Amino acid sequence: MNTSSTKAFGTKAADALLEEMTIARREVLPKDVEIEILYCGVCHSDLHTARNDWGGSLYPAVPGHEIVGRVTKVGNEVTKLKVGDLAGVGCLVDSCHTCDSCKQDLEQYCLNGFTGTYNGKDKHIGGHTFGGYSEKVVVDEHFVLKVPANLNLAAVAPLLCAGITTWSPLRHWKVGKGSKVAVVGLGGLGHMAIKLAKGLGAEVTLFSRTPDKIQDAIELGADSVIISTDDQQMKSVSGKYDLIIDTVPYVHDVNPYVATLNINGTLVLVGYLGGLEPILNTVPMIMGRKSVAGSVIGGIAETQEMLDFCGEHNIVSEIEIIKMQEINEAYERMLKSDVRYRFVIDMDSLKS
Ligand code: NAP
Ligand code: ZN
Ligand code: ZN
Repeated sequence: MNTSSTKAFGTKAADALLEEMTIARREVLPKDVEIEILYCGVCHSDLHTARNDWGGSLYPAVPGHEIVGRVTKVGNEVTKLKVGDLAGVGCLVDSCHTCDSCKQDLEQYCLNGFTGTYNGKDKHIGGHTFGGYSEKVVVDEHFVLKVPANLNLAAVAPLLCAGITTWSPLRHWKVGKGSKVAVVGLGGLGHMAIKLAKGLGAEVTLFSRTPDKIQDAIELGADSVIISTDDQQMKSVSGKYDLIIDTVPYVHDVNPYVATLNINGTLVLVGYLGGLEPILNTVPMIMGRKSVAGSVIGGIAETQEMLDFCGEHNIVSEIEIIKMQEINEAYERMLKSDVRYRFVIDMDSLKS
């Protein structure tokens, strides 16, 4: 298959810095869209993958799955987009299209395994997929999103992962007017969870370790903030929430949050992957019909629904724009939660 050389930024090993490199992109197939990448958000998953935190990272790794740009080429069977359109790509670039999950627009739960935008198996040119820290990307039109034209394009990029990852549980657990929602951790995912839950009409609380973020949380739309290390404050919201979205990336005690769920309430983990410590106590779950659940990103139709909702409600991410060459420093700052609230790479910096 024909490919073209594309400038990218990635890492050759878990303990190496990210640096400029060249990758191959396929030439457009009949259903493909080629997108010149204008902005790419920096998700904590990019860092987990670059550093092999979850195991299974393939190198060289080119992260980036919060992609927005402009269509530069389309295959002759493409109907969804045309050259010149704005377009977005999130965490998925392919799935089997035929399994029960795919048939229900739940490509993120494809029973045959979805293809991730990076670190997935490249079915077309072999090897593994490379993400959005690059000049361009070629994606099957089914996995390309239409981007509302009224929003700040750079600030739209994080919607493609942080937005959909928090939107999907809000929709699945039917959050709306009158719902009481809490969000654990004010980072990329957390700040979008606040904005989207608020947009859906919920009453929203932030749980944070960081008193410095209280003012920001209120400005983002939170009705209240609970400092999670303060037992008194935690007790004051005992039995309150219908849904808690927990975005914390590392192992932490979820028992104190379960205590703040209402009867029938659900704590949905979207951050940490792995065994819980200390052990999850089932007593409050059984005695209150409470659930602890998980959720991964969202399907393509649901992602389009979220983007359209954001267009109508003027919802975008709070961003700090960086140059591609600043990514290693940005990762260090993200680890210290020193980002308010999403880094977005201006991809022009890679082209120059
Ligand atoms: P982020 O911007 O770094 O935000 C994480 C927030 O969690 C921090 O701002 C901090 O908030 C809190 N936090 C960080 N370390 C903590 C610790 N050790 N203990 C307690 N709280 C801590 O990260 P993100 O991009 O939002 O991603 C969050 C997690 O979700 C990552 O693990 C990422 O891989 C994962 N993710 C999952 C999906 C999915 O589909 N399920 C999709 C995207 C990302 P406070 O300062 O307010 O406490
Ligand atoms: Zn992500
Ligand atoms: Zn499938």
